[in-house]
Amino acid sequence: MTDGSRSFYLTTAIDYANGDPHLGHAFEKIGADVIARYHRLRGDDVHFLTGLDEHGQKVAQAAADRDVSPQQFVDEIAGRFLAMWERCGISYDQFIRTTNAEHKRGVVALIQRIHERSPEDFYERTYEGWYCVGCELFKRENEIVDGKCVIHPTRELAWTQERNYFFRLTRYAEFLRTLITEHAQFLRPESRRNEMLALLDQGLEDISITRSRLTWAIPFPIASSSGETQGTWVWFDALPNYLTATGYPDASFTDRWPAQLHIVGKDINRLHSIVWPAMLESAGLPIPRAVWVHGFVQLGGERFSKSAGVKLELSEAMDRYGVDAFRYFLMREVPFDGDGNFSWERFEERYNADLANAWGNLASRSLAMVEKYCDARVPAGPRTSLDDSDAIDYDAYHAAMDGRNGYLLHEGLKAVWATIARGNEYVDRQAPWKLAKDPAQREALDATMAALCRHLARHCIVLFPFMPGKAAELWAALGAPMPLADQRFDQLASLDCAGWKVSKGAGLFPKT
Ligand SMILES: [Zn+2]
Repeated sequence: MTDGSRSFYLTTAIDYANGDPHLGHAFEKIGADVIARYHRLRGDDVHFLTGLDEHGQKVAQAAADRDVSPQQFVDEIAGRFLAMWERCGISYDQFIRTTNAEHKRGVVALIQRIHERSPEDFYERTYEGWYCVGCELFKRENEIVDGKCVIHPTRELAWTQERNYFFRLTRYAEFLRTLITEHAQFLRPESRRNEMLALLDQGLEDISITRSRLTWAIPFPIASSSGETQGTWVWFDALPNYLTATGYPDASFTDRWPAQLHIVGKDINRLHSIVWPAMLESAGLPIPRAVWVHGFVQLGGERFSKSAGVKLELSEAMDRYGVDAFRYFLMREVPFDGDGNFSWERFEERYNADLANAWGNLASRSLAMVEKYCDARVPAGPRTSLDDSDAIDYDAYHAAMDGRNGYLLHEGLKAVWATIARGNEYVDRQAPWKLAKDPAQREALDATMAALCRHLARHCIVLFPFMPGKAAELWAALGAPMPLADQRFDQLASLDCAGWKVSKGAGLFPKT
């Protein structure tokens, strides 16, 4: 970078390619998209990576069930994921697939580098235990209930015995404890950090990283003592995607690496904040700056409680009120540092209260009054109390969004909605329809309309990360002469709409 902008490389988990995208995938990708768009508006040099994890026994099995080759199977799945992220407005810069030749080359290079720099970190051992294909992991006693994996109670555990390569994870216990305790930003939120510290207290175990008879995998580049080439364990192949996406092992990989932020779900926290940094340390490569762990979205409410078999179809959820309303609902309703619920009842309530009645109504009545009282031209006007109060809420917005306190996206929206409530109060208090009747109040009327238009223009910018479509629609209705995506937060306070030609249009959120 030559322009002095700050590099911001963020990643999502790569989804496992054995089924279609679902609500949990969408929640994470939309959250990451909000953060990526937020950083672009700060002027950062953003690189946003997402993708698919395409190897492993589960994929091979799913392909065999459908009587297609694994590659054909994952190609179809990849097509469906790409179409869904297009629909959800996910502004990724790169989509990685672990069957890409460049990725495979990078994984092999990483394994060889570990082998060269830390030769004792790989060793062979005969291992036996209960293996869960759902997790692609050997399960410990305390992870088995009634003979089944606690995470996959419908799958049969398989008693598996084989001679595999192991990675000496135990060697990194103290390194990991120091990383997690001394670098407060590395693993958040705090509840997730405490979980990993508790895990370190219990003691780590070395992990088996190759699989015999696994052919749908990257061949492990170090032969076994028996001469067999085994398949690389799917996580030892998947985790390096964040690194191989930068072009590793080409020297230019340091242009992006280390990543500023990994966004992952709580079920794979251990892999990202224990296994992955240990692998990188073993290879002598820089550790990512931060891991942010989000929770799960549960299905709740009438419709989902009636029958356990009812699934949420993502496309149906977006058809209901449009993609932006869906993004808003998920990001407002489900805290990005914990778990939350999706219910149609809450979705409808939030759509009507927050979008149609609050923001949508403020926008349509303000624009209608500019058309009616100001000949559709935004008048000039001095700074008002509305501008001053907004500035305080936008401090809270940035504190929730910029990472210093974590990624509390729901809090960011709450701060914006505090300004929207104030905007509606301001209209009621100023009563422009009364001012318009008295020619002596012309200046007060102009000042009011100018303040409201600045207020709305700021909404477009701060809500662009969450609702890029609706924000751009309002930006156009305000008659802004420059593209919304080119705006920067540091210009927010001086934004002036005087002279813009508004057109009320159809309204942002039609009442249902
Ligand atoms: Zn399992």
